Amino acid sequence: MGMTLAEKIISRHCGRQVRAGQFVVADVDLCFLQDGTGPLAVRELEQMGPTRVAHPERTVLFIDHAAPSPRRELSNDHVTLRQFAQKTGALLSDVGQGVCHQIVSESYARPGDIIIGADSHTCTAGALGAFATGMGSTDVAVAMALGKVWFKVPESFKITVSGALPPGVYAKDLILSLIGRLGADGATYKALEMNGETVERMSIGERLTLANMAVETGAKAGLVAADEVTRQYLKQQGRADDFSPIAADPDAHYERIMEIDASELVPQICFPHQVDNTKPVSEAVGIRVDQVFIGTCTNGRLEDLRVVARVLKGRTCHPGTRLIVCPASRRVYLDAVREGLLEVFLAAGASVLPPGCGPCVGVHQGVLADGEVCLSTANRNFKGRMGNPEAFIYLCSPATAAYSATRGEISDPREVLG
Ligand code: SF4
Repeated sequence: MGMTLAEKIISRHCGRQVRAGQFVVADVDLCFLQDGTGPLAVRELEQMGPTRVAHPERTVLFIDHAAPSPRRELSNDHVTLRQFAQKTGALLSDVGQGVCHQIVSESYARPGDIIIGADSHTCTAGALGAFATGMGSTDVAVAMALGKVWFKVPESFKITVSGALPPGVYAKDLILSLIGRLGADGATYKALEMNGETVERMSIGERLTLANMAVETGAKAGLVAADEVTRQYLKQQGRADDFSPIAADPDAHYERIMEIDASELVPQICFPHQVDNTKPVSEAVGIRVDQVFIGTCTNGRLEDLRVVARVLKGRTCHPGTRLIVCPASRRVYLDAVREGLLEVFLAAGASVLPPGCGPCVGVHQGVLADGEVCLSTANRNFKGRMGNPEAFIYLCSPATAAYSATRGEISDPREVLG
């Protein structure tokens, strides 16, 4: 019997063929921390004895969640990470470089890698054919020290998508719809392998959006085979040598197989306060929006910003709605500047933030007031997620977010993109 993508990648890191359900100790290709979870991992590592990391050149510390720092104690945490990087030779991605998952995809992730991050959306790098998964600070600290990690090989779900996405409908709508169907715990500890002609046609940016939200079904990882699209992407990033093709075997065993017809999809809105509370946009049209947030590791990439500019060009934000745009990385920001996208955003009345997580976790740059409604392109809408448990967060695609910002209420982007 053949192997799933997850089984194949993990087998290569164990020196033997492994199957779903087995516990393994596997070599790790990349470990990373961010400024929310990193200081804890660093302190744990320091308590274990002499501070060293197994592979400093493949260990990265990101300062992205509260960057630039809004508070003294967070500034001190940032210093802890900078000093640790200096002591161990680990790489540092400091303020202004962008969100960890975006930079991992641009600069580090390779097809066939095992990637461990102290952040739940580490699964994003699965878009490049890597087995990437988020773990707790202690597990990541140990993986950093030893270059190895233990876990159970997950069972896999195969999600096959066919048909063309209609105008005004995007990868974000596809993944929101899938999360709605599976439920927030519908794929707990599974590897979601996404394939089919629709996924094969998608850019890496779109695949990153899919893989990013795999964890919102409870999945351990989200994976897409590495193909010609992956090769072209890595070449564009100056990493052509990092490419190697990898795919599941045709006779691999899947615990569950789902088929989705993309041509039947409509724009999706995820209602507060759960990420599987998804509904067609028609059920949300007219809901007042105080703040629109476009960015994050889910939808802060150049192609997302291009769609936003297309919608905003010649339009302005509704006077009752604040629009915040946050490019996911410095590279995205620079490309957006060169293409003139920022001019469109500013002319429409947006605030443009430096690259990073922005207001996604509610520590700064757009904390909501009591009773306010935010329409966001992020991946989570839990109570209190954006810093206020009395606020309401709806999730959607960049197109829906941008058009709604101009109307002051949730609106169907097909009215302008259809
Ligand atoms: Fe987490 Fe949001 Fe940052 Fe992504 S952008 S890593 S979801 S805080």
